[in-house]
Amino acid sequence: MEKSLVELAEFRAQKCNEIEENLKVIRDHMAEAAIQSGRTPEDVQLMAVTKRVDPYFINFALEQGVTLIGENYVQELLAKKPELHLEQAQLHLIGHLQTNKVKQIITEVDAIQSVDSVKVAKEISKQAQKHDMTAEVLVEINIGEEESKSGADYHAALELCHEISTLPGLYVSGLMAIPPYEEDEKILRGYFAQMHKLFVDIQAENIDNISMNTLSMGMSADYVPAILEGATMVRVGSSIFGARTY
Ligand SMILES: *Cc1c(COP(=O)(O)O)cnc(C)c1O
Repeated sequence: MEKSLVELAEFRAQKCNEIEENLKVIRDHMAEAAIQSGRTPEDVQLMAVTKRVDPYFINFALEQGVTLIGENYVQELLAKKPELHLEQAQLHLIGHLQTNKVKQIITEVDAIQSVDSVKVAKEISKQAQKHDMTAEVLVEINIGEEESKSGADYHAALELCHEISTLPGLYVSGLMAIPPYEEDEKILRGYFAQMHKLFVDIQAENIDNISMNTLSMGMSADYVPAILEGATMVRVGSSIFGARTY
């Protein structure tokens, strides 16, 4: 049923209070984990993941100092972007990107975190050159080797990075991963540790057009263990904005 104006105002006020409180708790946990991992709180960035979130609440989060927004779907991103107050913030695409959608998104985002094939990287390169720009990309790794998930094969990642690095119009700034759902904290941390090892190994190769600045891993359920294993960016959605309704 349609909410009355008064109900809508009350709903929004209450939800904004929750978002403010959630951000405080998450930032505290992040800072603690960063220090525990031998770093400073400034070393780990918080990305607010905003799929299915009303722009009103995204803008509230931006007012609360969020500087990074992640959207999953090209159409949703394009529809919401004009309403967002992104003057102090970056917008990244974090969902799977089909080659035929690259041209719609290329000038609309600050980075694409979900590059997992030479094919999509080539299209990004082509479109970026058309717009006379250099696109920032992260290479997504399917760390659990799950058939249901996108992402490049872990063992092929170094070679993939080498290939992508030769393409004009883009540069690789890091890696992104979503580990399998795992209740055993030790196994879960093992996935994150593997990602960190790959991140360090690729950095050590000193490849042109690749600088491993960002290790994007950890979501609502597991951002603390991800930071403990070296994440430099966590992508948190439902713990900020509440459960998504579909
Ligand atoms: C949805 C999503 C997130 C955030 O998930 P939450 O569990 O809501 O924190 C992070 N990264 C990607 C790639 C996502 O699709």
